[in-house]
Amino acid sequence: MHSASYRVVSHGSYAALEYDDSAKLGLTHALDPPAGSWPLRVVVIGAGYVGAVAAAGLAQLGHQVVCVDREPRRIAMWRALRPPLHEPQLPELVRDGTARGCLRFAVTATRALRKCDAVVVAVGTPMLPDGSVDLAQVEAAVEEVASCAPAGTTVIVKSTVPPGTCARLTRRLQALRRGEILVAANPEFLRQGFAVRDFIAPSRTVVGIDDRRAEQCVRVLYRGIDAPFVVTDFVSAELIKYAANAYLAMRISFINEIARLCDALDADIADVALGIGLDPRIGVEAMKPGLGFGGSCLPKDLRGLLDVGKRADVPLPLASAVRAVNDEQVAYVVRRISVALAGLEGRRIAVLGATFKVGTDDLRISQALELVRCLASAGAHVCVYDPVAGDELPGQLGGIAACACSAEAAAAEADAVILATPWPQLIGALSRIKARMRGAVFCDARNAVDPGTIRSAGLLYLGVGRPLSSKAVQPSRLAV
Ligand code: NAD
Repeated sequence: MHSASYRVVSHGSYAALEYDDSAKLGLTHALDPPAGSWPLRVVVIGAGYVGAVAAAGLAQLGHQVVCVDREPRRIAMWRALRPPLHEPQLPELVRDGTARGCLRFAVTATRALRKCDAVVVAVGTPMLPDGSVDLAQVEAAVEEVASCAPAGTTVIVKSTVPPGTCARLTRRLQALRRGEILVAANPEFLRQGFAVRDFIAPSRTVVGIDDRRAEQCVRVLYRGIDAPFVVTDFVSAELIKYAANAYLAMRISFINEIARLCDALDADIADVALGIGLDPRIGVEAMKPGLGFGGSCLPKDLRGLLDVGKRADVPLPLASAVRAVNDEQVAYVVRRISVALAGLEGRRIAVLGATFKVGTDDLRISQALELVRCLASAGAHVCVYDPVAGDELPGQLGGIAACACSAEAAAAEADAVILATPWPQLIGALSRIKARMRGAVFCDARNAVDPGTIRSAGLLYLGVGRPLSSKAVQPSRLAV
């Protein structure tokens, strides 16, 4: 077990992470509950990417978990052990929890809420058109808890919410239940595609509280998980999530900006990124150039942070620039493809991969789909194939592009093929697509394949920030 525990300690005007003496015994023992309160009876509200993973993970830790979702179809699929979403290792975890009787799924929460110790809120917090955060789902979930949960229940807010939300929810619960229900802010940092691994071995657990009993409940909830605990106030915990995502987004925009410079100077971003990232103060993670960041989190949370800054009257020019670079990235890649094809009007283009990244079937705010829209609006005939996206893809394309049933079919008679989401099965199919194409342009929009292999197949390799032809000097990174 991890023996260290950390706490944000205030030193006048600044805060620092310090070893927490009171929790020296570690995560499992320092704040153990009295005998009899293990395992906890947990209700998880929301059976999406975060809720389902939390529910199955908590059942694995030994708790009695009921996972509820207002979408009957989602619940029916979970009950039938036919996952409604793609997340590696999750089906096995759900099957195991269900078989051991630790995990159940329900459409309504009322019954489970009447006999629970903790409620994990994992509902959506979508972005409103003005960039602010829609908290309606969180508020509805908390109202439901207030109406049925027993005194002493802790509401653990895993949904990403703007600073100030948990304090507001606490005031609302105070008004309805006179302090009988506690709140903990517990932002989630999982990565889709690695969500189960990230649940079991998180980099840290962040807990925002205004009452030590809520902290105790969260510690019991995660008993058995070996990770540093950062205990702080509500608003700091909420801000940690937004700042973390803004920082990750900043790294992506930064490396995309440098990649554009590489294109102009004929430098190779793969070597440049490695040379930068090997500095231990920087690191190589999240330094991959490509189409920019998408998905349901980074774009939404960056906008959320900008909205928080606006409301607090604090300009956030760096965050604004991160967003501006990202907003331009797909158009940048499309311009380069257009130059390679001498125009896009009437060109046949295959786009391979549509999910916002590898490892998930999630199409929300996918840069690959934005790429399809850009190409189609420039007059190209686009055909898309994704090995995992499923039935939702045609609806998302809205008639602007065709859907193919294989990479080879998408590439048939294509002037150019674009690898937009580098699923391994797509990379595996690349050797077969050249024969199907009528043109010879291959755009590696995620810098995921070896340029030499593409060139030796007789195709023009167009990466992001990568030289158009092979260089005399072989990259030193091969020796690393
Ligand atoms: P999701 O849309 O996949 O799932 C949310 C689920 O909540 C939906 O199935 C919806 O039907 C259900 N729901 C909404 N209101 C409900 C209610 N009152 N009762 C029952 N069910 C209800 O969303 P997600 O991707 O799991 O994200 C959930 C939250 O976690 C968001 O705030 C998100 O920003 C945050 N988050 C997401 C990720 C990620 O990688 N997806 C990572 C970290 C944090």
